[in-house]
Amino acid sequence: MAGNYRSLHNAQTTEQGRLVALRQAREAWSGADDPVARLYRRASTTLSLELLLGIFAEELACALPFGQLVYRHRLGHQDFVYSTGVGGPHRCDYQLTLEGINYGALCLQRRTRFHEEELEIIEYLLGILICPLRNACQYALVEQAALTDALTEIPNKRALDMSLVRDCSIDDRHGDTFTLILCDLDHFKDVNDTYGHVIGDHLLQATARALREATREGDSIFRFGGEEFAVILPHTNLADGREVADRIRAGINGIRVPCGNQQVRVTASAGVASHRLGETPDQWLARADDALYRAKNAGRNCTHVAHIIAGSETQSA
Ligand code: GH3
Ligand code: MG
Ligand code: MG
Repeated sequence: MAGNYRSLHNAQTTEQGRLVALRQAREAWSGADDPVARLYRRASTTLSLELLLGIFAEELACALPFGQLVYRHRLGHQDFVYSTGVGGPHRCDYQLTLEGINYGALCLQRRTRFHEEELEIIEYLLGILICPLRNACQYALVEQAALTDALTEIPNKRALDMSLVRDCSIDDRHGDTFTLILCDLDHFKDVNDTYGHVIGDHLLQATARALREATREGDSIFRFGGEEFAVILPHTNLADGREVADRIRAGINGIRVPCGNQQVRVTASAGVASHRLGETPDQWLARADDALYRAKNAGRNCTHVAHIIAGSETQSA
């Protein structure tokens, strides 16, 4: 009995000792006030590349002074750039790699030279950053894939829905003008039936390229259905939106896809609507869709515009 009591007492003491040690370790860890411990802790709290680099910049600034931090990485088909602070004539550059895979380039700049001990600190902190950075890059790629159409490599319906919500709220808050173009290939089923799906797919890819060529850098293009495309034009009124729609249709009309000794071509119809203050994404989309429907009914290969006054509209061929 006494033996049992002693071993029970010893077990309790060991358990208590283990708990105390754990508590002390946790307190030391969470209360640690040095950049290294904080960077370890904070870097594991996010998968957002932007937030992660913000955390890194903050913790690095606690360790040593720097003017500007710039991070660049090609993520899928997009260039990601993060920049904070103001540069200077002295710089140090790092290619960030893990297990032979490149995770971008980081550049620090400031007005005074970087000393050897400072470079050691930077490299030590980069060693902590690299695993969370890899995770954030992989997450960004997965996110990008979920918003991209695999055939044409342009943003998909999900991305369009997100853009419509965002642009409606920007317009409602800041009064910016957004114009939406819906563009649908004419008699595309016949193209598939006559020439086959492979030729149809080439035409869809060429259409995405034509959309890119007919629009500007700040415009957004989407494939939101089989042979249906959308374009959102910021800072653009209805009249200018119609011009862009006609330019897009001219670009699509110019596509030629070789098939045997023939050149396959296609036309497109377009519906254009500018966002009205207070209008929901669905209402905006429905007005553009209505204009497109009228363009189809008017014989196709033309653009119809939904006017501000409900029901009234114009057409261009
Ligand atoms: P309309 O002028 O009225 O728009 O006629 P349409 O034939 O273009 O329209 P419909 O909706 O009848 O047919 C759309 C066609 O688009 C049918 C489908 O086979 C084709 N399509 C949808 N997605 C793809 C795709 O990914 N690849 C190919 N090749 N064809 C597709
Ligand atoms: Mg069609
Ligand atoms: Mg269609």
